[in-house]
Amino acid sequence: MSALIFIDAAEGHIKKASLEALSYGAKTAELLGTKAEGIVLGTVSDDLASLGKYGVKKIHQVINDTLEHFDAQVYTNIIAQVVEATQAKVIVFSNNLDGKAIAPRLSARLRAGLVSGAVALPETNNGFVVKKNVFSGKAFANISLTTDIKIIALNPNAYKVEAREGTAEVVSFNANIPASKIKITSVNKASGEVPLTEAEIVVSGGRGLKGPENWKILEDLAHVLHAALACSRPVADAHWRPHNEHVGQTGIAIAPNLYIAIGISGAIQHLAGVNRSKVIVVINKDPEAPFFKAADYGIVGDAFEVVPKLTEAIKKMR
Ligand SMILES: Cc1cc2nc3c(=O)[nH]c(=O)nc-3n(C[C@H](O)[C@H](O)[C@H](O)COP(=O)(O)OP(=O)(O)OC[C@H]3O[C@@H](n4cnc5c(N)ncnc54)[C@H](O)[C@@H]3O)c2cc1C
Repeated sequence: MSALIFIDAAEGHIKKASLEALSYGAKTAELLGTKAEGIVLGTVSDDLASLGKYGVKKIHQVINDTLEHFDAQVYTNIIAQVVEATQAKVIVFSNNLDGKAIAPRLSARLRAGLVSGAVALPETNNGFVVKKNVFSGKAFANISLTTDIKIIALNPNAYKVEAREGTAEVVSFNANIPASKIKITSVNKASGEVPLTEAEIVVSGGRGLKGPENWKILEDLAHVLHAALACSRPVADAHWRPHNEHVGQTGIAIAPNLYIAIGISGAIQHLAGVNRSKVIVVINKDPEAPFFKAADYGIVGDAFEVVPKLTEAIKKMR
């Protein structure tokens, strides 16, 4: 028996969310008195052995050309093979886009209970109970997993990365690679300096910015803060910004350490995707804007005056 953690990589680099999943999986294994192992699919340029410092003793790697493009069905099939070979009883994913695509498939395949959106370590004193977010982050539910194999998809930014000493043994896993049913004809990469789902700081704009030509002030602020850009849904619907920046109930759900909302009213559907942010700063010219109720800090003012001043002040501080 072991805990198996899926190590997610993009363009050869391990995602920060995977380091959180590794730290979480290693601690879970410790609670259960077992060992933690990792699984990585495809080639990775980062040093895999160094991931041992997050608590994994062994990493199973499957290298095959077909794995260079993400295919949830193929990935699920291979992970199931590794689960069988390692007799893993707890499997941990990050609840990011890849984890959301694989974990439910693996759950159905292995008939394993799944908690997606976990926010805390499992309670193992009396059964196996995992706390998760429900109702778009408005409440918590404690889910008891009673199946032999248990799957947890950990919300990004919900568990601190814990680095210790140690290196992992990296072993090649000889998997039976199924043929992909998907043919990739083109790949459109998201623009932006920092990927939105990985970002610690997010600068987000709404209809209050009036038009796409005004995004330069947000880009400048995002640049000095090394932040990702996001937007409200009407902004993406109007093609002011690409859809991959749309956050909210029908967009991407994020949980950065700092979310700066500029010219966004704070509709409930928008808040649903950002209210897990650790600190929310709202800049809006309307003191009655609903977003102020969810904000930790607020600036009542015109974005076109406030944002350039903020950018200049941060530049000076740095
Ligand atoms: C089923 C459903 C799903 C939805 N899903 C989403 C979702 O996922 N994400 C999402 O964002 N929305 C979603 N919406 C839409 C949502 O209800 C709101 O309509 C939307 O979030 C409003 O976007 P906004 O705040 O950018 O624009 P507005 O509501 O028009 O607000 C603009 C804000 O900018 C302020 N402002 C104006 N000028 C300035 C200035 N110069 N300086 C500073 N502030 C200024 C105004 O005071 C106002 O508060 C959904 C709606 C439905 C019905």
